[in-house]
Order: sequence, then C-alpha cells, then structure tokens
Amino acid sequence: MNPVSVNPDMVHERAAELRNASPEAIVRWTLDTFPQRTALTVSFGGGGLVLAHILSQIDATVPVLFLDTGFHFPETLKFKDEFVARYGLRLVELHPATEPGPLYQTDPDRCCWIRKVEPLERALVEGEYQSWISAVRNDQTSTRAGVDVLEYHRVKDRPIVKVYPLAGWSRDQVGEYLREHDVPHHPLMDQGFTSIGCWPCTRATRPGEPERAGRWIGLGKTECGLHTFTVKV
Ligand code: SF4
Repeated sequence: MNPVSVNPDMVHERAAELRNASPEAIVRWTLDTFPQRTALTVSFGGGGLVLAHILSQIDATVPVLFLDTGFHFPETLKFKDEFVARYGLRLVELHPATEPGPLYQTDPDRCCWIRKVEPLERALVEGEYQSWISAVRNDQTSTRAGVDVLEYHRVKDRPIVKVYPLAGWSRDQVGEYLREHDVPHHPLMDQGFTSIGCWPCTRATRPGEPERAGRWIGLGKTECGLHTFTVKV
C-alpha cells in the first residue's frame, strides 16, 4: 500500500471536523485514511483499553504496539496476555536496543529514552506508519491539556499524524466505557493505581491526587517522553 499524501493544513481541517466525533468515528477515519499504515500504542493501564476494544471491533489486524521495558508489573504482563487473547489483537512487542540495567535510579530520563522512546521511534520509522493512535487525554496533566484529536508531527523527518480519539474524554468516561462494554480493567486499578507504568517508578495514588501523581515520585518528571519526542508542525 502506497503512502497517503498528507499535509498540516489537511490534518488541521480534519481535526476541526472530528473534534466532537466519537472515538470510534475518529478511529474509523484513521483506518480509512491510512490503511495498513496505522498503529495503536497501548500500555494496558487505562484509556488504551478503550481504544484497543474499539479497534478489535473494526479491524483487529491493526498492529498494537506494546513497549516491553523489562520493568512492567507482573500483573501488567499477565493482563496484557489475557486481553490480547480475549480480543484477538495483533500485538507487537517492542524491546530496547541495549540493556542499561537499573538506570531508572540514576537517570530516569535516559532510562525512559532507551526503554520506551527509542524503540517506539524505531518501530514507527521502520514500520513506515503514517498515523499513530494513543489514549492521551486533555484532563490528565497540564502538558496534555492542549492536545487535539488529530495533530501533524514529524518523526526523524517523516510526517506522522498523531491521533488522540479520547482527547476530550474524562477519566470517568473511560471507566464508564469499560463497564458498559464489559471490557476488563487492569487489576492494579482496584488497588489505587490510577496510572500504571514500570514498577520502580509507579505507586498507587491517594484519593484526590491527580491521576499521574504516582509516577516518578520526587523526580520532577511527569512524562516518559513518548508523547514529546515527535515534533509538532
Ligand atoms: Fe525506566 Fe522508570 Fe522510565 Fe520504566 S518508567 S523506562 S523503569 S525510568
């Protein structure tokens, strides 16, 4: 399948049209526009479950990228396997190119780069993907507050359309969707984990704390870099 010609103006126009559309409609538009050139990233902790479920209803052959950092909770790995089997997803596990050891103790930004960002960047470029769907929501953090449903970015001089079907959704809406559609949730959510990443860098949150308050405690770090390494045009 040849690449689809896209430009920033076209993406901005479609974003305006799709801003109030349902996540399902946005996923359908993406798959129709970029056939065989779309990937979904999922960490199996929250909104990604909604998108993986939607994808399974439309086209379960679309690659679902999972970053195997080597530091996931055992519960995450078990839940991932069960979820993928239940919905027949086409899982693609991405691994770091090197094994730097417990770098999270001394340089978490570098650790996230080696274990998350570089493997994903490599996969997006080598897979020649033109669109990347993920579950970023405006209400998660101040740095995510401005994301649109579609954005035109560049990865290593290649254009890529970032697709955020849940940009306008709240955390409660994610929970409602999972309940309404009988979609299973990550078991650690029942133990107070509102955002689930690697075990060395994640704790449960207390009532009233922001959703991502349990990530990288005391390190002044709020993002792993996955949603900031591309260049927005
Ligand atoms: Fe390393 Fe922690 Fe980032 Fe995981 S979340 S890649 S352990 S710094």
